[in-house]
Amino acid sequence: MIMNDWPYSLEWEKEEVIDSDILVMGGGVAGCMAAIAAAKCGQSVVLAEKGATKRSGAGGSGCDHWESAATNPCSKITPGELVQAMLDDNDGFNNGISHYIECREGYDRLLEIEKMGGKIRDTGGEFTGAAFRDEKTKLLFAYDYVNRYTLRVWGSTFKPAMYRELKRLGVRVIDRVMITSLLSESGKQGNRITGAAGIHTRTGRFYIFSAKASIMCMSRPARIWLFSGSLPGLCEFRPPQCVGDGHAMGWRAGAEFTMMEKSVRAEFSASGRSFPPYAAGNNHNTWYGADIIDSEARKIPYADRDGNILTGIADRFRPAQGQKFFLKGGSVDNPKYEYRGPETLPFTEMMLKGYKPPFYADLSSLPETERKVIWGMMVGEEGKTKVPVFRNHSALGFDPEKHVIQCYGAGWTSAEFLPDERQLFGLPGGFLNDWNLSSNLEGLFVAGDSLYASNCYGHAAATGHYAGRHAADYASGLKKSKPARSQVRTEKERVYNPVRNRHSTGMGWKELNMGISKVMKNYCGEVKHDELLKIGLRHLDDFEHNIIPGTCANNPHDLVRLLEVFDILTVAQIIMNACLARKSSVKALCFTKLDDSGTDDSGSLIVLRQKEGKVETRKLSIDFFGDLKKNYEKFSKEYFRGKSKPE
Ligand SMILES: Cc1cc2nc3c(=O)[nH]c(=O)nc-3n(C[C@H](O)[C@H](O)[C@H](O)COP(=O)(O)OP(=O)(O)OC[C@H]3O[C@@H](n4cnc5c(N)ncnc54)[C@H](O)[C@@H]3O)c2cc1C
Repeated sequence: MIMNDWPYSLEWEKEEVIDSDILVMGGGVAGCMAAIAAAKCGQSVVLAEKGATKRSGAGGSGCDHWESAATNPCSKITPGELVQAMLDDNDGFNNGISHYIECREGYDRLLEIEKMGGKIRDTGGEFTGAAFRDEKTKLLFAYDYVNRYTLRVWGSTFKPAMYRELKRLGVRVIDRVMITSLLSESGKQGNRITGAAGIHTRTGRFYIFSAKASIMCMSRPARIWLFSGSLPGLCEFRPPQCVGDGHAMGWRAGAEFTMMEKSVRAEFSASGRSFPPYAAGNNHNTWYGADIIDSEARKIPYADRDGNILTGIADRFRPAQGQKFFLKGGSVDNPKYEYRGPETLPFTEMMLKGYKPPFYADLSSLPETERKVIWGMMVGEEGKTKVPVFRNHSALGFDPEKHVIQCYGAGWTSAEFLPDERQLFGLPGGFLNDWNLSSNLEGLFVAGDSLYASNCYGHAAATGHYAGRHAADYASGLKKSKPARSQVRTEKERVYNPVRNRHSTGMGWKELNMGISKVMKNYCGEVKHDELLKIGLRHLDDFEHNIIPGTCANNPHDLVRLLEVFDILTVAQIIMNACLARKSSVKALCFTKLDDSGTDDSGSLIVLRQKEGKVETRKLSIDFFGDLKKNYEKFSKEYFRGKSKPE
């Protein structure tokens, strides 16, 4: 769209300065909870969000299950047991600090969201008598009905409830502003963070946020390997506006990152090839427990972790004989034997036995409550399924008692991705944190999916709240420092450069994103080799120095998309450098190095940061966080004052 047709008034270069005690960057699940907690501690809070906070982020349109509610009254496992399983399941390559906070406080956050107006119980008695319902509390459970630590929830009610709470507490919410850079004391890299700069996504106005403490809640990178220029809205699992801006600006400011060498073969993505997550039939997560049938209606049997064929439907929701509990529903993440739940026998194995593809998810012979809770509640509440799948299919006459939904599984359809088409998924890399959920940069706290090895709604809510409390504690008594004018000037030069080029024929955002993704597939695919990585880095540096200065944007939309792709480029450089720094293969990181040096790095995190243009790396023991319970309690004294401890 050319500038003359732009529907909003343009305010290029015009400045607005906004002061607060606490600045929250990103108004997703973690950002909302961080702002709520900090405001409750009596701080003045500004929340800046690229989209519209009421529904923005991965959890904006919903979530169907709340993992790790280990302290709910029906749970049979402790936070300590659950976090240990999360660590063991990843050979220790997990964020012990943030997940312990999640397991200790996840259920508290759910109760808080309920008080704000979110729905977490079957108050209408829709599922009375179901095997997954506790009649006293009216809570509904998912997956492991014996241990009852994951709840089924009405997640589409959560973000609007949080938004109302932000307003009630007087948090100043500034929607449609893309934060573009962190500001530091005296404008010097590595100094205390004193706020951030941003740009309005509709008017192009320039924002200068000044705060005593800032909380990074912008989620994680995407579109690094996967990008379709023609279907940009459907490239990845998480929302298209979450591309790793926070990682890129943290890198420029000197923040430390870890596990950035981890990537997995793409799944749950679209990119023109697959299907929107949970829109197709399967038996994982949302669809867990569904029957899977072949094209002649023969059922694929479920088996427990020991290969015992399960005959009753109820067996799908219990641990195997001798097993304490299992993680999640369906073995999509390939959990370790100790934590593996029931799963259907592999499709490929069944085809060799004569079963005929395609396969379908079939809810028709499940007990009525199981059918209703999948089709209706889970499919209705899950992130991307309420409107496009549940409502549209229902409107077109889909009846789960009669109809089936096709699966597009690995091994037999074009929905499967190639080994070099990768993604930061599961528990990917991110900001390194300490027990305050602070980064190495003073004044910069981090929460949610921005953290290394992060995942899930409950984790984002719990770490957001914890970071909000600790940031408030840090800020109280501190003096604000003024933004450095020279840093503001440099940032304005950077962000408005594509607008100044608007009459040129420079590259636009889609082409640049395609180029980066191509480099990543070619030089940083499934199998890494230092020579390939170095060539890849040279290509990325070429883009940075020779292509970016000539890129052009016609309007604020194009400009914001372009600034995002600049950040995607920075994240790609972080990843390449992390892959160069790790010298040998590590299975838990899905990291395979062809020129494996033979050194045993399996007990260390590689931590990296950029200092004055040079990449610095160091090793850190994977269990650097020490005794989880002791440390958590040491850093949570205020939280527990006057409250009973949930463990
Ligand atoms: C389809 C789907 C289904 C899911 N289902 C579940 C589930 O059932 N249960 C579960 O536990 N988890 C689920 N998850 C995961 C869960 O939603 C996320 O882990 C959680 O939302 C992460 O919270 P967050 O605040 O870190 O990130 P988000 O909630 O994604 O928020 C990040 C925010 O940052 C904003 N932002 C980004 N860049 C900028 C910038 N430059 N300036 C300003 N703002 C910016 C974004 O607009 C966004 O609002 C699901 C995720 C998806 C995508």
